Amino acid sequence: MRKNYIAGNWKMNKTLVDTQDFAINLSNKLPELKNTEIIICPPSLFVYEMAILTKDTAINVGAQDVSVHEKGAFTSEISAAMIKSTGAKYCIVGHSERRKYHNETDEIINQKLFVLLKNELTPILCIGESAEERENNLTDKVIIKQLSKGLKNVELSVPFIIAYEPIWAIGTGNTATPEMAEEVHLLIRNWLKENYNEKISQTIPILYGGSVKPSNIEELLKQPNIDGGLIGGASLEVDSMREMIKISENIEV
Ligand code: PEP
Repeated sequence: MRKNYIAGNWKMNKTLVDTQDFAINLSNKLPELKNTEIIICPPSLFVYEMAILTKDTAINVGAQDVSVHEKGAFTSEISAAMIKSTGAKYCIVGHSERRKYHNETDEIINQKLFVLLKNELTPILCIGESAEERENNLTDKVIIKQLSKGLKNVELSVPFIIAYEPIWAIGTGNTATPEMAEEVHLLIRNWLKENYNEKISQTIPILYGGSVKPSNIEELLKQPNIDGGLIGGASLEVDSMREMIKISENIEV
């Protein structure tokens, strides 16, 4: 049985005070949770603060990226050991904005997965096709390439999360229909079965990301292979997070 995940990716938003307010307000307003795992990924500068302020709550904390290097002369980079030492449990890897603006390749993403797993952090591996790739019927090919190269030689075991994030749906308001998303989630699950095993394919949560919000999350979560959302814009407000958490709790897992 897989839980539902409500994971917020704040990207480059919020200050320290905003982070503190959010952590306190969301912690205070949380219902008791049975089915839902909450993850907040603030900017790396505020990961520790978020981890401290939510320590005894149901809120888990993640970083948005990690260095491929373990330590040393790499100005501005943040290592997996540093992230681990803040109390964070998760780390997003391979977000399309990192691929696009920082030239991250599947090979780099693969190295990042190794450093995260070595440091016992749970990766949230993002994959997804562009609008052009979808228009040219290349979605399956792109997803399989990103999985095969990103996970090359990775001994997959739980905990590990995959997020399907079609690039054309991120920050655009154009969500994939639940059916479109489900089709790709099933492809990912089948790929995991073929390349790992049935147990892995059934236990790894596959999240959908791309303009998820309170008004569309229910239909997405009702799909059998969608186990939650990786949410950008709508994760920035406590009330909208709380609403999505409540919806998630009411959906059977
Ligand atoms: C994201 O940041 O991964 C994302 C899906 O953003 P948004 O929800 O704003 O589309």
